[in-house]
Amino acid sequence: MYKRTEFYEKVKERLIRYAKVDTQSDHYGKDTPTTQKQFDLARMLYEELISIGASEVYLDETACVVYGKLPSTMPDGGGRPVGFITHLDTAPDAPGANVKPWVLETYDGGDILLNAEQNIVMSSKDFPSLNNYVGQDLILTDGTTLLGGDDKAGIAAVMTFTEHCLAHPEILHGPVSLAFTPDEEVGGLAKDLDLDRFGAKVAYTLDGDHLGFYMDETFNASEATLEVVGLSVHPATAKGIMINAADVAAEFLAMLPRFEKPQYTCGREGFFHVIALHADVEHAKVVLIVRDHDRTSFRHREAYLEKCADALKAQYGADRVKLSIEQSYRNMKDVIDEYPFLIENLTEAIRMSGLEPKTEPFRGGTDGSALSWRGLPSPNLSAGYENAHGRFEYVPIPSMEKNVEILIRLCGLFGNMSAE
Ligand SMILES: [Zn+2]
Repeated sequence: MYKRTEFYEKVKERLIRYAKVDTQSDHYGKDTPTTQKQFDLARMLYEELISIGASEVYLDETACVVYGKLPSTMPDGGGRPVGFITHLDTAPDAPGANVKPWVLETYDGGDILLNAEQNIVMSSKDFPSLNNYVGQDLILTDGTTLLGGDDKAGIAAVMTFTEHCLAHPEILHGPVSLAFTPDEEVGGLAKDLDLDRFGAKVAYTLDGDHLGFYMDETFNASEATLEVVGLSVHPATAKGIMINAADVAAEFLAMLPRFEKPQYTCGREGFFHVIALHADVEHAKVVLIVRDHDRTSFRHREAYLEKCADALKAQYGADRVKLSIEQSYRNMKDVIDEYPFLIENLTEAIRMSGLEPKTEPFRGGTDGSALSWRGLPSPNLSAGYENAHGRFEYVPIPSMEKNVEILIRLCGLFGNMSAE
């Protein structure tokens, strides 16, 4: 049976309070942040950091980023600075307003009735991850909204860690930097994080599902757009004249490798994925994303698209076909590997907390993918939520308690390192 730690009430109260604040970001939002309501949580965290005694607390009123620090408690005031980064927003994929979190104590296995009125049930058959948490206390939704444990379970752990360390200066650690950033769910990539203000030169994002997982490898990613300008004439007299842009786009689609698509790939297999297609006789536009963990094979994929476009240009005219490729983010691993202590310390902290660290190449990107390439190497530690982005999201309270412990041990290990 699980024994509650001294962090139990703290992480529970925090996740419930944060989850009730609607911080949904917007794929189509043109402003920074993409939704103003993310400031509601940013301000709450800003006040909270001040009230628990964090230093250099700052809210960027334009970018919606909250900063704070914990000074070193090492006898010589030293240690290597490390940072923790979590995101304020919740995913646009499911309703994010009027979240009504509730606690199921001592989950006994089996199905969970989330909403009696609407008869919404979470079945352990559909969601077998539930079996890992029998006997634990879970924070759940009422089945009509997401929970927002992604990433508020991470925020709750970081805040509780901060409060605990500041209240217990006898816990030894080096300098710690904190940041809470907007728009992770809509590809914000923490672009407005001010690295000078943040301070620490290495960091961890705290995000992702399954307790004890970490991540140091993500996709390389780009987005490609193929545009075709057709030549429309009356079909009756089109012979030898018409260029049907829709047909050219279809030809391009047929050139893509049949099984190198998300629905046929897993693990470290990359893919091409068509995300939009608009076509008529005069104009066609194909938008696709390219993903691969391996840098060389990623470049080959991009080169393959160029080759397809060149073949179509040769056939229909260079001015009728245009391909543009834009980089989205890159695999963090190439950067992280230059800082082996990041993963050594993290896995040691996870082990010291009684868990076996687990990892697998992430089939996506994180804010840390972009931050790593901006000069702030940032692998990821799981925030411990489950079923993110949907109505069946939940967070086991012991997972958050465990993460507080991992953070304490982790910054203790950095405290024992020399400043740089
Ligand atoms: Zn997240």
